[in-house]
Amino acid sequence: MDDVKHLRNLNDAQLAAVTFVPTTPLQILAGPGSGKTKTLICRIAHLISHHKIHPSRIVAVTFTNKAANELRNRLDGLIGKAEASSVVLGTFHAICARLLRQHGSEINLPRNFSICDADEVKKIINGILKDMVAAAGLHGSNKRIEVRDSVAVEYISKAKSKGLSPDDLETKAQRDIASKESLPKGEADPQFMLQVSSIYAEYMKVCKNNNALDFDDLLTYGVKLLQTKPSCIDYEHVFVDEFQDTNTTQLQLMKHFAARHGNVSIVGDPDQSIYGWRSAEIENLTRMIKLFPGTKQVFLEDNYRSTGAILAASLAIISEDTTRPPKTLRTSHPYGVTVTIGNCADEHEEAVCIAEEIKRLKLISGGLLKWSDFAILLRFNALSRNLETALQKMGIPNRILSGQKFFERVEVKDLLAYLQLIDNPNFDPAALRVLNVPKRNIGNKSVEELRKRASKTGKPVMHTVEKIVDGRIPDISPPLRSKAREFIQTMRDLRQKAIKGISVASLIRELLMQLDYAEHLKKTQPDWESRWENVRELITFATESSTAQVSSQSNSVQDDDSSSTDAADVTRATTTASLLKEDKQAGLVDGDLWEDTSPLPGEDSSLSDELESTNPLRVFLETTSLSTDVVANDEDAENEKVIISTCHAAKGLEWPVVFIPSVERGTYPFYRSEDTEEERRLLYVACTRAQVLLYLTHAARRKLGGDSKEAELSEFLTVVMKKNKNLFTSNKPILGHKEFSLLSKVLGRPAPEATAVQQGVQEYYKVQATSTAPAANTGGVLPQPAPNGYSQGQSTNRTFKFK
Ligand code: ATP
Ligand code: MG
Repeated sequence: MDDVKHLRNLNDAQLAAVTFVPTTPLQILAGPGSGKTKTLICRIAHLISHHKIHPSRIVAVTFTNKAANELRNRLDGLIGKAEASSVVLGTFHAICARLLRQHGSEINLPRNFSICDADEVKKIINGILKDMVAAAGLHGSNKRIEVRDSVAVEYISKAKSKGLSPDDLETKAQRDIASKESLPKGEADPQFMLQVSSIYAEYMKVCKNNNALDFDDLLTYGVKLLQTKPSCIDYEHVFVDEFQDTNTTQLQLMKHFAARHGNVSIVGDPDQSIYGWRSAEIENLTRMIKLFPGTKQVFLEDNYRSTGAILAASLAIISEDTTRPPKTLRTSHPYGVTVTIGNCADEHEEAVCIAEEIKRLKLISGGLLKWSDFAILLRFNALSRNLETALQKMGIPNRILSGQKFFERVEVKDLLAYLQLIDNPNFDPAALRVLNVPKRNIGNKSVEELRKRASKTGKPVMHTVEKIVDGRIPDISPPLRSKAREFIQTMRDLRQKAIKGISVASLIRELLMQLDYAEHLKKTQPDWESRWENVRELITFATESSTAQVSSQSNSVQDDDSSSTDAADVTRATTTASLLKEDKQAGLVDGDLWEDTSPLPGEDSSLSDELESTNPLRVFLETTSLSTDVVANDEDAENEKVIISTCHAAKGLEWPVVFIPSVERGTYPFYRSEDTEEERRLLYVACTRAQVLLYLTHAARRKLGGDSKEAELSEFLTVVMKKNKNLFTSNKPILGHKEFSLLSKVLGRPAPEATAVQQGVQEYYKVQATSTAPAANTGGVLPQPAPNGYSQGQSTNRTFKFK
């Protein structure tokens, strides 16, 4: 029976949680891999199919967009697309952005607000710091500005997530200065905080002038909206995954979401709380019980993800945190292969060693393991460089899950900035980014001048550009004026098209033509071809989002030919662009810019909101600015690639084989972190991503930040290894019958034929014989067939060591 699909394959505790009275607030607390997310999904499916709750009255909050997509896909599988697509699903940020677009006017928010990403926030703060330094110099003040931009960003974000205003910070700093008492450990110097508070105040002003919100604002304004107009939502059931990583504002949001009906279900694991550095508060678990009296707690104790060996090693690591209450977590899988500790001489050897091991496992598994079954989890991004090189040299395809994301690439950001500016001409970060892209001889100095003027006058950058065109600012060279005119004309033209509701794909193609962007890439980027691919991908993405929009929103405007996104067409478009541009330029010289009576960007009237909230451009921009964890393109996701990710980004995910390099002091715990226990939990989260094979590697020396220094094994491991000698080995695992059947069970794929395994092993020896790897890893006897048909002892070099 289809309607009970979601009740199948659940253990008793999970089933109880899924079917528990829908009106009782529920906390499902359990260790990694115990099926918390699975239980949450099944409970949603049960509410819809059994309790007949309308899907649109259910809101489910996930930690990343990727998790939201996965959740939707899994719901599709359980209850069908039609119902699943109506569930309100997303991160707190995405859900708030949507609410603010629809109802923001209730709290006087303009509908065309832009969302600043981390990069844009930093640029704004940078500008403010520059102004402050200049002002201090001007007033002969010897007060130095002590705050660095990244530190200011961090403090402002922390203040926002605690709901503190610049005034609150200032009052506290003044009080601390006056009291002259020594501050508790960990609290920042009040003079320093005084500077932070004024940067914060200035930052708020700039954002207001720019019609811009940052990520934290989305949440705080979300709360404000729901306080002002609670009736703008009516969710009957509220779900939150990874609840242990919510902050104060997010808890408030959850409270507002559930205000009317009080039905909340959260899942979480205190042992996996790894976002304290971003103001997540584990105390939210107890706060929730106070907010929702009668909350029932459910504990799950069976792990379905990892082998006994991986679970035992992971639990041994986390158990060293003595403040943590002991918990039960058992696995239904066999004990499996002991966790491997790899010792290497330095970071290069470590990278080669990991790449070789991946290749070895792939080959000797006779086709059972795919590249995408391997993940390398890093404490921080900089560790990826050597690994990428080693994998590439060995011909192993890989992709970075948390490195440079698609929407952060230069060419993609350029085009998005143009689109943002079309939508919101007051958004200075976008204006400053694109003024000289493609080159218009508006150099860095001129751009900085424009920024300063905007900051001084409180008027947007585009306002000044327009004054330049208009001749209202003297001493501008005629070529610069002509370039500015061209720029304004382009923007105005595109804005008119956007207002008319043309599709975003068409708008981007129009933009490419008007800017002759292909030519710009050719001139400025040696790898322009691959960058052009990203441009094309952006068009594809725009087409796909508009189709998705159409399927969920039948009234949306559609004028587009989706065929226009194919390669030939785009290439043709750029050829056309060159021709069109010439015409346009020719016409522009004589044409009267002011003929058109429609409002100009930068004019007061342009602040009026002309794009409807359902306008394709606006909807598209919302998707892209919140897609912080969308990586590359779909094609990539389908491709078979080894994943490189940070431990933080790997949260909630799982892979059959996991490598964790640099398990050393200074990395675990990270030398800059103030919370050792959070670092231990992070290593625990990383280890518990592994299903069948887990490797922790470390090097004797490591070069980081230019210096090669001696490295030591992380203290998180040394203690554990001393106490539990059997939990770790430096031997590389041998895959035999038992391991193959375990892998095939986990992967849900048939075990390989013995002949395929034999062939893979032969191939492995062939690769080794021609390998340039260190001598100790070459050679070896050909495997002897074992009684079960599989080969045994695939390698004579069994230690994970290259000394
Ligand atoms: P994390 O804390 O890492 O987020 P989680 O508790 O959310 O983990 P899930 O991701 O829901 O765990 O489940 C882990 C794996 O175990 C998934 O592959 C899931 O399909 C599987 N699983 C969960 N419950 C069962 C079950 N009862 N029977 C079989 N497999 C299960
Ligand atoms: Mg989960």
